[in-house]
Amino acid sequence: MSQVSRKTESIVQGQPTRDGAGVNLVRVLTHQWQRRLDPFLMLDEFRSDDPNDYIAGFPEHPHRGFETVTYMLAGQMRHKDNAGHEGVVGPGDVQWMTAGRGILHSETPEQVEGLMHGFQLWINLPEKNKMAAPYYSEVPAKEIPVITTEQGHQLKIIAGKWENTIGPLQRPDTDPIYLDLTLKNETPIFIPLPKTHNAFIYTVTGTPEIAGQPITARRMAILKNDPDADGVEIKGIAGDHLLVLAGQPLQEPIVQWGPFVMTTREDIEQAITDYQEGRF
Ligand code: FE
Repeated sequence: MSQVSRKTESIVQGQPTRDGAGVNLVRVLTHQWQRRLDPFLMLDEFRSDDPNDYIAGFPEHPHRGFETVTYMLAGQMRHKDNAGHEGVVGPGDVQWMTAGRGILHSETPEQVEGLMHGFQLWINLPEKNKMAAPYYSEVPAKEIPVITTEQGHQLKIIAGKWENTIGPLQRPDTDPIYLDLTLKNETPIFIPLPKTHNAFIYTVTGTPEIAGQPITARRMAILKNDPDADGVEIKGIAGDHLLVLAGQPLQEPIVQWGPFVMTTREDIEQAITDYQEGRF
C-alpha cells in the first residue's frame, strides 16, 4: 500500500458557546462546516474545572433526525431519556444515541466539582432512517479497543477499524471512523482513510504536524479530499493527543432547526408540531 497523506485544507478555531441551561463549551465544528464535513453536523468540546461552566447541565430537550456520540475524558454525566434509558458515562466511556424520529433527554453532570472534559459529536442520518426508532447504547471504556501501534503510539478505536481490530460503533451509510490517538514518541504514524470520506482532526493537546504542517492545540484541521491520498500522516511528540474523524458523506440536503435535522423545511415544521403536540 502506498502512503500518500492528505494535506490540511483549513484550520479552524472553535467558537465559545453557551448551551443547555448555561453550560460553557466550545463549538469546534460549527454550522458553517456542516456541508463540507457531511455527515458530521456538529462537534462540541466541554472542558472546564470550574463547576459554574457545567453544573447547569442540559435539562430535558428533544432531538430528531440524527445521532449523537458523547465521549468523556474526565468527569461524569448522567443521561436520561423518555425511551426509558438512564445511565452515567464517565472517563473513557462513550454514549451513542440515535434520535431517529424523536427522543427527549436530559444530560446532567454527576459531579459538583473537578474537571469535566468531553466531546459531543452529531452525525447525520440518511433521509430513509431519520424517522427510525430511537436507539441508545453505552460503551464502557473497557469495551473500547486500545491498540499499541507498530510505532508505539496509543490508539483507541471508538468507531471504524485499525488493521483487524474493529471499534464498537459501526453505522451503515455514514461508516464513521472515530479514533483517539495519543503519541508516545516522535515516529510518524500513517492512518488509512477511505478516499470517499470527509475527514478532520482535532488537536486536544499538543501541536503535532499533519502531513508536515504544524497545527496549534485545540484546532480542527479539515483534511483535503485528495484523490491520490490514502490516509493521513501525523507526527508530534510524546503526549500529543488528537481525535481523528472521518465519515462517508450522505450528499442530501441538510435543514437544521436547533435540535432537529431533516432534509426539507416541511419535515422541520412537522418535527416542531410533533414535539409541541407531545408525539416524541
Ligand atoms: Fe441532547
